Amino acid sequence: MVIDRPRVKEKLEKELKLFEEKHPRSKALFERAKANFIDGVPMNWMVKWAGSYPIFVDRGEGAYFTDVDGNRFIDFCLGDTGSMTGHAPEGAVPAIVERIKNGVTFMLPTEDAIWVGEALTKRFGLPYWQVAISATDANRFSLRLARHITKRKYVLVFNYSYHGTVDEAFITLKDGVAESRSGNIGPQVDPTQTTKVIEFNDIEALEKALAPGDVACVLAEPAMTNIGIIHPEPGYLEALREMTRRTGTLLIYDETHTMCAGPGGYTGAYGLKPDMLTVGKAIGGGIPTAVYGFSEEVAKRMRGLISLEDSDTGGIGGTLAGNALSMAAMRATLENVLTEEAFERNIALAKRFAEGVESVIEEKRLPWIVKRLGCRTEYWFRETPPRNGGEAAAAVDFELDRYMHLYALNRGILMTPFHNMALISSQTAVEDVDYHTEVFRQSVESLLE
Ligand code: PMP
Repeated sequence: MVIDRPRVKEKLEKELKLFEEKHPRSKALFERAKANFIDGVPMNWMVKWAGSYPIFVDRGEGAYFTDVDGNRFIDFCLGDTGSMTGHAPEGAVPAIVERIKNGVTFMLPTEDAIWVGEALTKRFGLPYWQVAISATDANRFSLRLARHITKRKYVLVFNYSYHGTVDEAFITLKDGVAESRSGNIGPQVDPTQTTKVIEFNDIEALEKALAPGDVACVLAEPAMTNIGIIHPEPGYLEALREMTRRTGTLLIYDETHTMCAGPGGYTGAYGLKPDMLTVGKAIGGGIPTAVYGFSEEVAKRMRGLISLEDSDTGGIGGTLAGNALSMAAMRATLENVLTEEAFERNIALAKRFAEGVESVIEEKRLPWIVKRLGCRTEYWFRETPPRNGGEAAAAVDFELDRYMHLYALNRGILMTPFHNMALISSQTAVEDVDYHTEVFRQSVESLLE
């Protein structure tokens, strides 16, 4: 079956009208917000939703939230992973509230740090850790440390990867040539001066990029998630580990999204051995925090290279990093929410989500596919899985994406913006997943009828 393009446009108009009928109060707030916020939102991406304006949230609870117009949604976006725990997770809220009542930030450690450090080592295998405020910061600091200890100039990232607002990573390949990524706002330095970029799953390109011995580190998700889910091909991660080791290049895995693969992320699930690892978003149950970890060898090289006298001005830190609240939130989240049992249940439900969408794709003979990584699932408007970021980016269908999102939104389902991705939390019910399958079927039928 082929999607009728003029019909997408026409149906999108209809859905936009329906959206506006359902969200008058959000519209009024959005108009007011324009007086004090650029584009009417406190953070610039908040405008990139499928409706005519963003929905203003009233409250969230588990896998659901209610907006200021009283509409209730099944939340498959979950703050783009920040709330993968579900909103206000019961297992973490009491400890978070208790900590707030007893002081949030001291620039001194609390005893929760001990528990958190031990838990991180058990989950991810690395012996040493530091805490940052965001995954972006954890990545930025890891890159600095990698350059500091290797004395090398470049970092290497994969085409169309995303690691937060990290300057070095805003680089893409155009016809095989590296250039600043489209939309890169006021780059501090031309990223081609700091970064090598290659396609994921390309062993030859990796060998070539690392051969001169001038790359401090590879910063990578073990499976790409931000231009859609792209799995490593068999043998690729082994080759990446072997080549980085052989060329003295540090390997940093960013597990911020791939944490969805299990309690120790992709690293824990597949027994990977990175030199450094970063993870943010969900590990504090939504309270801003992130961690970055090091191998024994990296820790050894760091010691003596960071001076005590300059430690507050060395470019790594953050006054609020490691604050008492984020430590309490991480402890409670790791101890009671993102548990082995929770992942087991949620991954099984994500399989059901994928099978539901697949059944519709098959029934309607659509040239689409479904990809899944742990409790993260998404559908693609192409026939075969992309091997790398370049192929994935070429398959982005902005208009169709927008229609599918909006159709779901108007029927009480929030998908993750920028792609058709769904996360499953411990509070997501089987009925929610099956309802999504039904709405997905209807949205497809609306384009084929
Ligand atoms: N790493 C990955 C893999 C991400 O997807 C993101 C954000 N989407 C980040 C890091 C940055 O997270 P934050 O914006 O919370 O700093």
